[in-house]
Amino acid sequence: MNDKKRKIEISSTAEQKAFPAAGEDIFLLNNNNNNIETGRAQLKEDRRAADRAAKQIKWEQRMRRKKAREDSARREAEQKNAVIRSMHEKYMRTALEEAQKAAALREVPIGCVIVKQGTIIARGYNRRNTDANTLSHAELNAIREASHALGDWRLEGCTLYVTLEPCQMCAGAIVQSRIDEVVIGCMNPKAGCAGSVLNLMQVPAFNHQVKITRGILEKECSHLISTFFEQLRSEKSG
Ligand SMILES: [Zn+2]
Repeated sequence: MNDKKRKIEISSTAEQKAFPAAGEDIFLLNNNNNNIETGRAQLKEDRRAADRAAKQIKWEQRMRRKKAREDSARREAEQKNAVIRSMHEKYMRTALEEAQKAAALREVPIGCVIVKQGTIIARGYNRRNTDANTLSHAELNAIREASHALGDWRLEGCTLYVTLEPCQMCAGAIVQSRIDEVVIGCMNPKAGCAGSVLNLMQVPAFNHQVKITRGILEKECSHLISTFFEQLRSEKSG
């Protein structure tokens, strides 16, 4: 490469200030030129490092925003769940009051309420022995009353609260009546049909499936039934 061309190239760079005046030793020229090349390479590397750092900062900012959004969504969901749970507990307490009525008649204490748009439209409790009728389960008694109140066999938009997991008969009636949701106190491993023995409420082949929420006031509901049977056993043995 001739000196003239080299000088022109170099003089076109920003590093010109550091460059010796025209006519100086060729060695110095080459040497300086090498320095400039190294300087350029260093500059490129610095820019790449700066780009990487900027990208890293942007990525961290994006991640922080994402986490903040997720945290806020989670808090919102938790608050919503807490509100729903407290509402479920409120109605389950009323269902427990119904169950107490059954206990007072020495019936297996199972109680039920049906709620539509925040209003209890029907209540029921187990009266099977009292009525001498298989059909007199808490849920069926409540469904009958709800249909009477609404003047319709369709109970769409209703939620049924029951202290014990429904049997096959009641689960069938719940599906038939097109109730939206069933909220259950405690499960019944030996006879329940909302997931224990069977899940008749969510058979995909049927034309209606029911949303199920389990475990609301579970201890209270299960305690009521177990004390009832304990008492019955102690009376028999006594
Ligand atoms: Zn039943």
